[in-house]
Amino acid sequence: MPNRMLKFVNLEQRTPPKRSAPERREDFEEIYEEFDPDSAADQAGRCSQCGVPFCQVHCPVHNNIPDWLMLTAEGRLEEAYEVSQATNNFPEICGRICPQDRLCEGNCVIEQAGHGTVTIGQVEKYITDTAWEEGWVQPVKPTHERDQSIGIVGAGPGGMAAAEQLRRKGYQVTIYDRHDRAGGLMIYGIPNFKLEKEVVERRSRLIADAGVVFKLNFEVGRDASLAELRAKHDAVLLATGVYKARDVKLPGAGLQNVFPALDYLIASNRKGLGDSVPDFDNGTLNAEGRDVVVIGGGDTAMDCVRTAVRQGATSVKCLYRRDRKNMPGSQREVANAEEEGVEFVWLAAPEAFDGRDNTVEEVRAVRMHLGVADATGRQTPQPVEGSNFTLKADMVIKALGFDPEDLPVLFNAPELETTNWGTVRVDHRTMMSNLDGVFAAGDIMRGASLVVWAIRDGRDAAESIDRHLKAKAEGPAVMAAE
Ligand SMILES: Cc1cc2nc3c(=O)[nH]c(=O)nc-3n(C[C@H](O)[C@H](O)[C@H](O)COP(=O)(O)OP(=O)(O)OC[C@H]3O[C@@H](n4cnc5c(N)ncnc54)[C@H](O)[C@@H]3O)c2cc1C
Ligand code: SF4
Repeated sequence: MPNRMLKFVNLEQRTPPKRSAPERREDFEEIYEEFDPDSAADQAGRCSQCGVPFCQVHCPVHNNIPDWLMLTAEGRLEEAYEVSQATNNFPEICGRICPQDRLCEGNCVIEQAGHGTVTIGQVEKYITDTAWEEGWVQPVKPTHERDQSIGIVGAGPGGMAAAEQLRRKGYQVTIYDRHDRAGGLMIYGIPNFKLEKEVVERRSRLIADAGVVFKLNFEVGRDASLAELRAKHDAVLLATGVYKARDVKLPGAGLQNVFPALDYLIASNRKGLGDSVPDFDNGTLNAEGRDVVVIGGGDTAMDCVRTAVRQGATSVKCLYRRDRKNMPGSQREVANAEEEGVEFVWLAAPEAFDGRDNTVEEVRAVRMHLGVADATGRQTPQPVEGSNFTLKADMVIKALGFDPEDLPVLFNAPELETTNWGTVRVDHRTMMSNLDGVFAAGDIMRGASLVVWAIRDGRDAAESIDRHLKAKAEGPAVMAAE
């Protein structure tokens, strides 16, 4: 058989075709087409099968990337899928929305050598989308059932990954979520043009088909206390994400038409899912015909600017206090936004929102420069004296990040320990909080992060819950030996 690998030497890097920017602006469909089988095999074959695969080292779930690339290059897709799903509950979701430029692809050895990374994310998406089409993706079937039950609070990627892993081991699993749909930020935060909702919904259905019970519209703290869940289940996993939007304390911040990012994105995502959204229909949360200024430089800001473009905004500007190189959002998404007509105003920060009749009309801003590095090594932005300017705006979206809600208060559980940042304090060896049998995973444990880290945490928590329950079942001697 001819060697199908190491093609990077004479084969250029290629991603699947991307739809043109004018076409993308008109709808909320995903922007990349799928690889055809030959291109997927060729692009996978660019991998050099490194002895120390840095792609895998830098993947939070340690995907066995070289192996599934080789299997794809050889046309053995079902095996590629088996290898890929062994370490990741949602590979086709990670293939779509992981910031690969900061993880696997950014560390790919042939990228470092100047040949252009293997397009790992696109191959991952291709493998699992094919697996769905071919019927290879099936609900997990436990080999034996266990009596013990686990209550999971939060149906985001962390909670759902844990649920699938625990079900695989035969536990009885119930997921509680305050929303009416499962998926967490994958369903109501991340827009359809990055992650089509059917891709998330078919995963939720698969997990339900495996026997996991979803109790939606169920808010822990309102419909049950943490103590009640602990009494009902043998273990509880908190995977509630982080939802307290960071705010700007500036003059005019309370004006109408100044919105938190998630209100805006949830309205748009609900509309796309076919829900009735009065605040969108009456124009309040619709950017059509408006001059929009989005404040922030992370993934949420990128999603807001690109949503505004698609809603038919007159102009869309993104104000960020650092420069392009130092922004937290994915460089790939910035490039996509620029292609779609978003204007980035780098090194600029808002000072006030001005308007009349309680309605914002412009953003007063100041230019920034990057000063000395702080304790974390990041240069601190400083205002440039006398560099004030204004931006016309009749809609301002604040995308400044999220902090945890006050869980001990919300859950009526003052005994639950949190960190100085409000995340649930856990023993990182076990993922267990200070309360016996209460574990935590995802953003509520590590702070606002990524889907792939939530999956990793969910899987780790499931392993730890399994060990904890087995030790309990086997009795005090085993627990003492742990
Ligand atoms: C706009 C936006 C865009 C993003 N884009 C990306 C991206 O492109 N790539 C990427 O990797 N990451 C992205 N992220 C980050 C990613 O979405 C999160 O890191 C990830 O979803 C965290 O998973 P989680 O399971 O911890 O929490 P979540 O996904 O937040 O899910 C938590 C769930 O818990 C539920 N819940 C909360 N409190 C309660 C309660 N009291 N009772 C019952 N249920 C409750 C919530 O309703 C929610 O469904 C983005 C985030 C945002 C906000
Ligand atoms: S680092 Fe790049 S070339 Fe090396 S194994 Fe991973 S994908 Fe292949």
